[in-house]
Amino acid sequence: MAEHQLIVRLRELARNLWWTWQPEVIDLFRSLDPDLWESSGHSPIVFLSEIDHERLTSKAEQMALDSRVDYAFRRLKDYLKNSKSWGAIYAASLRSRPVAYFSMEFGLHESLPIYSGGLGVLAGDHLKSASDLGIPLVAVGLLYSEGYFRQKLDIEGWQQENYPHNRPDLLPIEPALGADGKPVRIAIPTRNGTLHAQVWTADVGRTKLFLLDSRVPENSEWDQSLSARLYGGDARVRIRQELLLGVGGVMALRAMGVHPSVIHLNEGHSAFALLAEIEGEMQEQGQSFWEAAREVSARSVFTTHTPVAAGHDRFWAELVEENLGLFREKIGLSYEDFLGLGRVHTHDQGEPFCMTVLALKLTRRANGVSALHGEVSRQMWHPLFHGRRLEEVPIGHITNGVHAATWIAPQMQRMYDHHLPIDWRARIRHPEVWKSIDSISDAEFWETHQILKASMISFVRRRLVAQAKARDESPETLDKLSRRLDLDVLTLGFARRFATYKRAGLILSEADRLIDMVRATGKKIQLVFAGKAHPEDRLGKELIQSIVRKTRQEAFEDWVVFVEDYDMNVARALVQGVDVWLNNPRRPQEASGTSGEKALLNGVLNFSVLDGWWAEAYNGLNGFAIGRGQTHVDPHVQDSRDHADLISTLLSEVIPLYYERDKDGYPRQWIARQKAALTSLGWRFNADRMVMDYAERCYLPAAMGVSCHIPI
Ligand SMILES: *Cc1c(COP(=O)(O)O)cnc(C)c1O
Repeated sequence: MAEHQLIVRLRELARNLWWTWQPEVIDLFRSLDPDLWESSGHSPIVFLSEIDHERLTSKAEQMALDSRVDYAFRRLKDYLKNSKSWGAIYAASLRSRPVAYFSMEFGLHESLPIYSGGLGVLAGDHLKSASDLGIPLVAVGLLYSEGYFRQKLDIEGWQQENYPHNRPDLLPIEPALGADGKPVRIAIPTRNGTLHAQVWTADVGRTKLFLLDSRVPENSEWDQSLSARLYGGDARVRIRQELLLGVGGVMALRAMGVHPSVIHLNEGHSAFALLAEIEGEMQEQGQSFWEAAREVSARSVFTTHTPVAAGHDRFWAELVEENLGLFREKIGLSYEDFLGLGRVHTHDQGEPFCMTVLALKLTRRANGVSALHGEVSRQMWHPLFHGRRLEEVPIGHITNGVHAATWIAPQMQRMYDHHLPIDWRARIRHPEVWKSIDSISDAEFWETHQILKASMISFVRRRLVAQAKARDESPETLDKLSRRLDLDVLTLGFARRFATYKRAGLILSEADRLIDMVRATGKKIQLVFAGKAHPEDRLGKELIQSIVRKTRQEAFEDWVVFVEDYDMNVARALVQGVDVWLNNPRRPQEASGTSGEKALLNGVLNFSVLDGWWAEAYNGLNGFAIGRGQTHVDPHVQDSRDHADLISTLLSEVIPLYYERDKDGYPRQWIARQKAALTSLGWRFNADRMVMDYAERCYLPAAMGVSCHIPI
């Protein structure tokens, strides 16, 4: 292979985010230069822009990499061509008019930082599965020039936020081209000046992701910075971002000649898209607003993601009018009628405009993201459906799942390759595929887990040392940190956003007593924490600080570590390598939760409050429950009861089971539980099952004009 062809092929591999779920391709880049791979933030594009080409070709020659590159490249081409996918058979009717999936954030990989947490990662996993399944789907989001912040903790343990600059030329994106072959530009007139945007496109396997970007010279400086940060601005910024996403997104699709048959809103942020679709129908069909609204709502799907009030955007009338007043006139609605679309009580002038309400009023199909969350959402939005009984509120549920190839460790995938049916990836949603887990010997299962645990430990140590170095800590401290965590000690992981309801501090809320009680058992545990607090969330930052202070006290230093800058990279290391995944939200506020599903697919046991996905997953033998699913009107009572349950289950079940070893040193009962988790749950909590559910229950009926709502 000539030199340039090697580089051309590597570039092509780098440009399609397909590589993010191909362990061999990742390995290919890493093995060319491991240090550069790390320092490039796992971005093949940055990597290729920095590596010396001579060095690359000589290294490639030395390692005989040509054939591997060639093979990866051919696999990508075959993947893109594959016409025998599930979607080609079952979703062919969407081919000429795809599903359009709107989301404020997409978590595809740490090197494309346009996500903050679970919502974005879920959207990323949705696109990957849609691509694997061959379901015709295009996605719309925003390109953030700074994205979400990177976290650093200062010497006091206080969170510092740094905003990286996302250079488009170093991201896997290209300008999107219109039907005329020119870069797409859109313009949205508002009372506050016209908002302009350019559009980028990213390839996620076979799925296209379009990203709107307001950094164009036609915009005022303020509008140019509009798409700088995800969840960074006030209501004034937020509503304009949502205008850009929803209305701008529909305009962009039109400019590219994409006419979606189904609109799927991943959370209410993008609900203005429905108005833009309605406007399009009015123009094309000469319909009234309400006629067009009926048609659009029949082919729209809305997924709500949280019962937490702050998660539902509400805007005052003036802001709505400032941004959407001209649009409102275009669709012929009065000021009051328009605002009524976003109010529970249509005529209540004191009620702000809520994006979730708008989405619920303008879609025929709505769903929560777990069975329990569906139920909670029906209660929450019951007032919107006057005269209907609670069970008749048209909000069903489709439980979240995670993208298997993205989240399962390569070593674990190899073990599955050896023992599950050969096509387990393609048939992951079938229970019988997972039955073969039982044919894996305990020894192989356990050793594979231990290898992953060891690599998690070395990952954490490296990060702890790097963090401490950045704070100029002493060589003795660095040395101590480089030996933190013990392979033989039961290790619990807790990593998530530090939102109050997730109660990151629960397990440590009487830490001294906990230490004493664990000591009394003669056994040890260690805790690995990670997570970011929203920049405006003082309480969340204080919580981080209190945990970090513990990690620096002698009494706790063997117990607790905190890994900074939680992102998909940190998430992967932890969900693949800890023994237990701890999850203790205040039920019923965790709509689904997905990190526990990632842990599950890696054979890691969940230890969780019966909330979100775990409420429907736990069967008594496939993990551990905290409490029995109780709630209490007084959150303090609920917290102290859950704390007591957490500690007692930890001491009476989790610790004994882990340390009960047979003569060969294997914890047989523990391994049995790990296997039981996979056989009972592996087929359900993956993104292929989720996306197929969306296709079968929503996309196809919606596209065919079958009117029914998502089952409860
Ligand atoms: C999976 C994931 C989440 C979501 O985790 P939850 O369990 O839903 O809180 C958040 N952030 C990152 C980086 C993730 O990978």
